[in-house]
Amino acid sequence: MTALVWFKNDLRTLDHPALYQAMACDSVVACYCVSTAQWRSHDMGDRRLAFQMRALDDLSQQLERLRVPLKIMETPWFEQVPAALGELCASHQIDAVYFIDEYPLNERTRDDAVATYLQSLGVRVHRFVADVLAAPGSVLSLKGEPYTVFSPFFKRWQVAVADTPKPLPEPQPQANTGLAFERRKPHWDGVAADLDAQRWPAAQNCALAQLDEFLYDRVQHYPEARDLPAVPGTSGLSAYLAVGKISVRQCLHRAWAEMAHGSGRVNGVEKWLSEIAWRDFYRHVVALFAHVNYGCGFRRETDRLPWRDAPGDWMAWQQGQTGYPLVDAAMRQLNATGWMHNRLRMVVAMFLTKHLLIDWRRGEQYFMQHLVDGDFPSNNGGWQWSASTGTDAQPYFRIFNPTTQGQRFDPEGEFTRHWVPELADVPRKYLYEPHLSGVSEYVAPIVDHRFARERALAFFKANR
Ligand SMILES: Cc1cc2nc3c(=O)[nH]c(=O)nc-3n(C[C@H](O)[C@H](O)[C@H](O)COP(=O)(O)OP(=O)(O)OC[C@H]3O[C@@H](n4cnc5c(N)ncnc54)[C@H](O)[C@@H]3O)c2cc1C
Repeated sequence: MTALVWFKNDLRTLDHPALYQAMACDSVVACYCVSTAQWRSHDMGDRRLAFQMRALDDLSQQLERLRVPLKIMETPWFEQVPAALGELCASHQIDAVYFIDEYPLNERTRDDAVATYLQSLGVRVHRFVADVLAAPGSVLSLKGEPYTVFSPFFKRWQVAVADTPKPLPEPQPQANTGLAFERRKPHWDGVAADLDAQRWPAAQNCALAQLDEFLYDRVQHYPEARDLPAVPGTSGLSAYLAVGKISVRQCLHRAWAEMAHGSGRVNGVEKWLSEIAWRDFYRHVVALFAHVNYGCGFRRETDRLPWRDAPGDWMAWQQGQTGYPLVDAAMRQLNATGWMHNRLRMVVAMFLTKHLLIDWRRGEQYFMQHLVDGDFPSNNGGWQWSASTGTDAQPYFRIFNPTTQGQRFDPEGEFTRHWVPELADVPRKYLYEPHLSGVSEYVAPIVDHRFARERALAFFKANR
C-alpha cells in the first residue's frame, strides 16, 4: 500500500501525526502545493513566503533522510489542489492520503474539498488535529457554545489539554522504495529564498534549539520581561509556529518538563502557556465564527463604524513618522526586520484605530504583508482586540497612551533610540515628548493625544 503525506503549514518531521502514521504503510511519498496566487490574495508578504520557502527546503532535506520523496506542485489557487492531488494519487497508485487540518475558512474549504474528491476516487483520507492543542469545538461553555471571551476559554482549555499525550518521535526511515520525484528547490513569485536567512533561520533544529534555550534560560523572567521590547524576554518562536516547524504539543510538553525543574519557573511557564492558549483561542474563533474570515468585525455592529480615510496619517503610521517615538520605533522595526514585539503590536494597532480612527482591516493587511510570522487567526484576533471590534475586546474607552507606554515599557529608551536615531541627543526626560525639549529635529506629533482620545470616545460612543 502506498501512502501520501500532504504537507502544509506543518513543515516538520517530529511530532507530525500524519507522517508518523503514514510511515506504517508499505511505501510513503510526500507532497507540497505552492499556492502563490492564493497566498498573495491573503496578503502574505515576501518575508513570510521566503521563510516558508526555506522551511520547506529544510523539510525536503529531513524527508530525504527518511527516504520519503517530496513532490512540490504548482497550484496557484487552493481550488486547484484537489485535482492536483487526485492526479498524483492516480499516477502513483496511492491508496491513502494523510494530512493535518487547518482552520481559516479558505484552508478548511480546500481541505474538505480535497477529502471529498479523493474519497470519490476511492482514496482513503486520514485527517489529524495537530495545529492546535484542543480541536475547535472541543472547548465549549456549559451551554455547549463556543467561548467569546478568553479567560473562561482558558480555564476550560487547561482542563482539555491536561492529558495531552507526548509528542511523537520522528519515524524511522523507510526502506528504499525506488520512488523518486524530480528534485527541485522551492521557488515562487520572485521571492528570494535567502531574504532574512541569517535573521530567521528556518531549520527544524533551530526551532527546537530556540525552544530549549528559551525555556531553560529565560522563561523564569517571562512574566516581567515579556513586556519590555529592549530585552529578549519572549520566545521568538512565532514564525516557527506559523509554518509548523515546531508543534504546539512540543511547546506544551517542553514547558511542562521545565516546570518540574523548580518552583521558580512555574509562574513563567504558566504565563507562557497562556499565550499558547491565545493562539488556540484565535484558531477556534476563525473555525467557529465564519464571518471573521470575510473581513467582518467579530462584533457585527462595529462594521458600521465610519473609519477615516486620512492618507497622510496612514502614510505616517506605516513609515514610523507619527511623532510618537514608541509607535515610530515599532513600525520601523517591523519594516526593517519583519517582526514586532507583542506589546508594540498592541500599541501601534491601538494608535492606528483609536488615535487615527483608521480601519483595523488596513492595519491587519499591512501587518500580514510585512510580518515574518504573519498568521491569519492571530493577526485578525490581535487587530480586532486592539480595535475593540473583536472577542474579549478592550472596551472602546481603554486607549493606550503611547507616551506613557514608552515611559513604562522602555524607560531607558534603548529600543526606541535604536530605531529612531533622531532621538539620540534628546534628554531622557523628554524622550517620549521630544517636541517639548526644544532640541529635537524629530517630527512633531501628527495628532495630540488628548484630542485623539476624546475624538475616539465620541466616535465609538456615537456608533454603539
Ligand atoms: C495587532 C496584533 C497582530 C498580531 N499578529 C500576529 C501574527 O500575525 N502572527 C502571530 O503569530 N502572532 C501575532 N500576534 C500575537 C503576538 O504578538 C505574537 O505571537 C508574539 O509577539 C510573537 O512573539 P513570540 O513568539 O516571542 O511570543 P511569546 O510571548 O514567546 O509567545 C509564544 C507563542 O504564543 C503565541 N502567542 C503569543 N501571544 C499571542 C497572541 N496575543 N495571540 C495569539 N497567539 C499568541 C505565538 O504563537 C507565540 O509564538 C499579534 C498580536 C497583535 C496585538
